[in-house]
Amino acid sequence: MGNKQKILIVDDDDQIRLMYSELFRQSGFDVIERKDGVEGLEVATSVKLDGIFTGIIMPRMNGFDFVKALKEYKDTVDVPIVVNSHLGREEDRNAMEKLGVNDFIIRGLVSPAEIIKRVVHVVNAEDYFFKVNRESEDFEKFIREQRMPIDFMCDECGTELSIKFKSTDKDYFRGSIRCPKCNKRFN
Ligand SMILES: [Zn+2]
Repeated sequence: MGNKQKILIVDDDDQIRLMYSELFRQSGFDVIERKDGVEGLEVATSVKLDGIFTGIIMPRMNGFDFVKALKEYKDTVDVPIVVNSHLGREEDRNAMEKLGVNDFIIRGLVSPAEIIKRVVHVVNAEDYFFKVNRESEDFEKFIREQRMPIDFMCDECGTELSIKFKSTDKDYFRGSIRCPKCNKRFN
């Protein structure tokens, strides 16, 4: 039991939650279910999760506010998030990608088996840290335009910042500026 990957499913629709928890359990995951962002956040900040599968429209705290909150805490900023959208609106996808989710699935267009496959992929994607070359021509522009600390040091622990990438696909990387020591996010 101990080495099973743990996934949190957040959705206010009982049937959806039931269906996916069954699917994820069959695929070897430990599953925790919650009904909205408030409950989801409680779990995410107290349990070490390997992934989160969340809906968008929910009472109390919707998917956007849930993801936003997850990205604010050092302990939850790196938990891979897959959004399970039922309307499939393009503006929702853009907003969610901006917030830093790892995948956005439109229910109905993607088979349950494919959904599981994509979540497994995201959960197991590797992280890479790259140092920024301060000598490079674009360094100052980068600092200015990305509104980074001028010394490019973490204001909490004084460590030089890095770029952290998660490979979710061979030709698709998502990067963020991080403190490699305390994991604070700067963008
Ligand atoms: Zn730091």
